Amino acid sequence: MAENPETVLEIDLNALAHNYAVLRSRIRPETRLLGVVKAFAYGSEAKAIARKLEALGADYLAVAYTSEGVFLRKAGIRLPILVLHPQPDGMADIIETCLEPSLYSPRIFQEFLKTAQAMKQKRYPVHLKFNTGLNRLGFRAHDLDWIGSQLRATDALEVRSLFSHLAASDDLDEREFTLGQLKAFEGIVKNWEYPFESRPFNHLLNTSGVFNYPGAQWDMVRTGIGLYGYSNDPETDSLLKPVSRLRTRISQIHKIKAGEWVGYNKGYQSEGLRVTATLPIGHADGIGRHYGQGKGRVYIQGKPAPIIGNVCMDMTMVDISDIACKEGDEVVFFGDGISAEGLASRANTISYELLTGISQRVPRVISGA
Ligand SMILES: *Cc1c(COP(=O)(O)O)cnc(C)c1O
Repeated sequence: MAENPETVLEIDLNALAHNYAVLRSRIRPETRLLGVVKAFAYGSEAKAIARKLEALGADYLAVAYTSEGVFLRKAGIRLPILVLHPQPDGMADIIETCLEPSLYSPRIFQEFLKTAQAMKQKRYPVHLKFNTGLNRLGFRAHDLDWIGSQLRATDALEVRSLFSHLAASDDLDEREFTLGQLKAFEGIVKNWEYPFESRPFNHLLNTSGVFNYPGAQWDMVRTGIGLYGYSNDPETDSLLKPVSRLRTRISQIHKIKAGEWVGYNKGYQSEGLRVTATLPIGHADGIGRHYGQGKGRVYIQGKPAPIIGNVCMDMTMVDISDIACKEGDEVVFFGDGISAEGLASRANTISYELLTGISQRVPRVISGA
């Protein structure tokens, strides 16, 4: 990598430590904390984030897919890793690398059981996911009898935890719906009859759940976005620090006369004398076309510069008419003081999508390890 690359995603592990402490302060000391590191740790850098979470004392990690967990094991991560969405063809990899699968349907349960038996496993730790209203993944309450009969017939599996996922924990207008989910989960826990002696632990809350429904923290919480500095709420956002900062540098400056066009398909026409800057970052880096046409804006010397015309694959043009700056100057998309949620919402999306979309072409520079 060049020593001083133009476009960089800076990852601040001290900010991660800060957010971890804030989230810890919101739960009971005995409640476990699972750090969600799926999708390259929300588009940051999975290895560095997982290592830091391990050092900070996280109890668990979670990834979406098996390959993400295998990657972390190869990087030397030793914490228990929950695989939220395993697929049938990766079951042996799960066992070989000591990952813990979420079993969310009869098909996946049987696929994993078959593999565990073939690999002569005894009481291999698994987690059972229940659908309480999100209607995405999970068993139903009425599957409990079937699950019980399967478990009584084998000693290959041991249920480590029961869990579910909230659909609208960030939206207080949907309080009643969420309380219904809490109740449904409570019912599942109550009706669980464990065929062995040890009791599985239970978990339900994501980041917004921790802030809005702390009474439902059960034995563990699963936090993702909060660790990275966002919480879906402006008030709690102010307690957190963004882990990622996306910055680039001005490649070239143009003076544009009235009536001139900028970018592909004449995406922007100047109404008067304007000054524009071309930036070496585009939709291939994760700044989608929906940020174009004035929706998104970047910051130069702390001042906003709107994105003009269409975002190109490798470049973006911004209007810098009101900013005194020169070629080579730093340009910030998001980071400390400039909210990724703010930029995302200007283009009708959310911080999760903007953060996880920053492509692997953008070098990651890590500090605070
Ligand atoms: C992604 C995910 C989380 C983390 O949610 P945040 O809102 O980022 O805290 C928790 N649980 C499950 C099942 C998930 O898929």
